[in-house]
Amino acid sequence: MYLPVLPSGSRARRRSHSLLWIVFIAALIFGSSGSAHALPEPFEWASYRSPGFAVYVPSGMSIDGLGPMIESLYAEVSQFWLPSLVLCQQLSPDDQILVPCESAVATQAPILAAARRNPGSCVPAPSSVFLYPSIDALQWDLRDYSVGGRFCGSIAFDPEMMHTLSRVASHLPESGACSPDPLLSIYVCGFPDEGWKSILVHEFVHLLQITNLTDLDMLPLDARLLLEGMAAYTEYALGYGDDFDVHVTEPVAYWIQHGGRFDAVPEYLLYPAGALLAAELCAVIEPASFWALFSPIAYGCMLDLFDYDAADVAVHASVDGALVSDASDWQILAALDFSARLERTTGVCWDEWLGRLAADLREHSVSPAGMATFEWKRRNVALRFRLLAPVLSEATYDEFLAISERVAAGIAHVTDVDRAEALLALPAVQFSADVVDELAWRIPSLENEVRDVSGEAAVQSVSLLSSLRQRNPDDPAAYIAAFAEIVNRDLVWAGPTVP
Ligand SMILES: [Zn+2]
Repeated sequence: MYLPVLPSGSRARRRSHSLLWIVFIAALIFGSSGSAHALPEPFEWASYRSPGFAVYVPSGMSIDGLGPMIESLYAEVSQFWLPSLVLCQQLSPDDQILVPCESAVATQAPILAAARRNPGSCVPAPSSVFLYPSIDALQWDLRDYSVGGRFCGSIAFDPEMMHTLSRVASHLPESGACSPDPLLSIYVCGFPDEGWKSILVHEFVHLLQITNLTDLDMLPLDARLLLEGMAAYTEYALGYGDDFDVHVTEPVAYWIQHGGRFDAVPEYLLYPAGALLAAELCAVIEPASFWALFSPIAYGCMLDLFDYDAADVAVHASVDGALVSDASDWQILAALDFSARLERTTGVCWDEWLGRLAADLREHSVSPAGMATFEWKRRNVALRFRLLAPVLSEATYDEFLAISERVAAGIAHVTDVDRAEALLALPAVQFSADVVDELAWRIPSLENEVRDVSGEAAVQSVSLLSSLRQRNPDDPAAYIAAFAEIVNRDLVWAGPTVP
């Protein structure tokens, strides 16, 4: 995802996207990507409107009931976190995809809905949802090889993003449609067969967050643990992800057992560690109360906005032993820090709770598949595969997909990860100017990832690639070898290793 309101600067802005997380469903998506080394097929977008969304799919690929399906996914997400938010369903199952949106408020987030209610205010543009048929096309458009989906806010104000999204930019809602200008857009791959719903659920959580979460810095840990953790956990909570233990709990447990701490979560475990925290907190507090911990005022505003009878709201907070669910209590919460909020609403002491969670994880048994998942992430295998895909042979590509599927299914062993590693280290077999073009298109992504994993100094070697290309325009082999060396050397995270 992409969230420019985050306080921690460009790194957070760039890294807070989705989803290396989807490596676990990525086997399915990779499977739809076709040839190992063909440029994404060009296609035209066809657009559809549902009440809350402008939906874009490749022309001729739409499916029946797509609009209602998207509205219903969003309703699932908002009902899970903010049950009072979804006021009505405006689409019947028989509705066609093309729906006029004049009367729509159902899926607009409260802040946008509030703008509608104020006389003279403009009508918010709907959020755009782009459904990609393959991960190749999505990554090409986003020019980011670490993602399978992304949430973008206020894209119009980011020239760099506009440039890389030139293929979709003409479809985005016009700037100036509303103030504050929503211009929210979501990019998801795996449409129409596999994977897209899980990713869309994840991105919808970000949509809900950007319009409703006010106190992002409340968690006394990295704020992205909260943002990505909530999104990743929701995939599982709503039944769009499998094997929570193997994909989430066990890798985090393995890391804790080797000295990991929640106040220093490495990038490669951000999603599972965040998902685990969200899941564990939601085990002691209802999701809506969880949300209110990070946005009591927004929650209170929502209650007021829709004139809800407090008794109807599915929020129960125990204050001094009494069950309360009243906006004013959330206003009281707003004055407190996170630990005090948690203690007031649940009686739970944060430090003790976190200590107990870590202690439990130290005792948690980790299966071979859990260790393989950990190692898959630490070695950044999925990203490295995406970066090197253009130079792999068909046989290598297919074998890699089979291993990905084993990881996704939660049945891999660390020897599978070793085998994937060996495949990535094989000499390239595709040598052509086209392949060099494909690799060169990946340079910004490679540079970002190398900076994250190995630091600024290592980025030097990426910068040298372009001069290498200029010096040897007729020798793609040298460029390809240098590119592969960087991928296999500078993108592996330090950390405990699985023996
Ligand atoms: Zn995300």
